[in-house]
Amino acid sequence: MITNRSVSLFSKAQAVIPGGVNSPVRACRSVGCDPLFIQKASGCIVTDVDGNEFIDFVSSWGPMIAGHAQPEVVDAIQQAAVNGTSFGAPTSVEVELAELVCECVPSIEKVRFVNSGTEATMSAVRLARGYTGKNMVVKFDGCYHGHSDSFLVKAGSGLITLGIPGSPGVPDDIVKNTLSIPYNDKEVLERTLRDENLDIACVIVEPVAGNMGVVVPDMSFVKKLRELTTELGIVLIFDEVITGFRLSLGGAQERFGITPDLTCLGKIIGGGLPVGAYGGKAEIMDNIAPDGPVYQAGTLSGNPLAMSAGLAMLQLVRKPDFYKDLEQKSDWFAAELQQIADAAAVPTVLNRIGSMMTCFFTDEPVTDFESAMKANTEMYGKHYRNMLEGGMWLAPSQFEATFISAAHDRIHLEKALNMIESSFKKLMN
Ligand SMILES: *Cc1c(COP(=O)(O)O)cnc(C)c1O
Repeated sequence: MITNRSVSLFSKAQAVIPGGVNSPVRACRSVGCDPLFIQKASGCIVTDVDGNEFIDFVSSWGPMIAGHAQPEVVDAIQQAAVNGTSFGAPTSVEVELAELVCECVPSIEKVRFVNSGTEATMSAVRLARGYTGKNMVVKFDGCYHGHSDSFLVKAGSGLITLGIPGSPGVPDDIVKNTLSIPYNDKEVLERTLRDENLDIACVIVEPVAGNMGVVVPDMSFVKKLRELTTELGIVLIFDEVITGFRLSLGGAQERFGITPDLTCLGKIIGGGLPVGAYGGKAEIMDNIAPDGPVYQAGTLSGNPLAMSAGLAMLQLVRKPDFYKDLEQKSDWFAAELQQIADAAAVPTVLNRIGSMMTCFFTDEPVTDFESAMKANTEMYGKHYRNMLEGGMWLAPSQFEATFISAAHDRIHLEKALNMIESSFKKLMN
């Protein structure tokens, strides 16, 4: 594979951008190669600046559930752009998107748009604290909720990939108000939430973890979480930045039949533009300024380009059978992948729900952060490089999800499976 242009761009980038990238895992360090620079993408194919083509399973880390450069989304952005790109005043498309979000996710009675998932979770936690008058945030080991100070405690994703436990620059005074406990552990959960000395405002959870690799929780754990938080008057926040509009139109909460108090959204909701959102019970949301005292604002929040892209995207996923087709395709792909892994005798555990999955290189079940950490990242790195060489674009980390989109057809998926099969054979030699 020729990568001259990427190599040259990366060397220029490193001179002016820390690590040469604007988000750390993109640097590809944990998989032992340098990043490729992308020229364009269409459907499920990404093309790098040297003209190499890859079948994409990264989906821009989640948003591109309908495939890249979908004409409906591109048109919406172009039409919005000619009317001006930002006004700092309300527009009709914000109302339309808000109505649609409330319709798709019934637990959301009111919603506020922001510019990223990080902003959504940060604001939701501030709101929960303001609403309850309490301080402590409970999260789970290996769950990632963006990069704001309060969450950089056992925060999965980029930090695990880079081997960083927390982050310098985050004061102890802030972190002492965050408690991180094991995912999927009902006993520790109950003991923690019932501890009256803790002054707990909220629990924030990825209803399916996607940032330590995919970990689908025990339903009994999620039920217990809802029961306890209701009983104890603790705000339950579902961080559905990945799972929202991914696992169903109503996200993980619809799929599980569990209703959180607040929901954070991001990724898919922006159709590839920078959008986040948080919403939930009106009784809680009414505490946000200007109706209430909890401050949260944004110069570009509700930006007309971003809202138009989001609206076009949600109209795509709302089409009849969108999720049914995606589910069937993903079922088939996962079953084939499992057979290939079994036949090649590569020690793997495939965790999957709907169109998101992680193939962990380990032979023990992966149910939490601790078990995820047992995965063989060196083997993942080799596999990653084999796949890249073969033409399959995977996340450059063992601890991320592989996403299937509506744009992957049978031919692409079969090609990908053949590549995986030959990579697994190489790994065992
Ligand atoms: C990606 C992600 C975030 C952060 O969103 P950004 O848009 O990257 O700030 C938060 N929570 C979860 C679950 C995510 O996957």
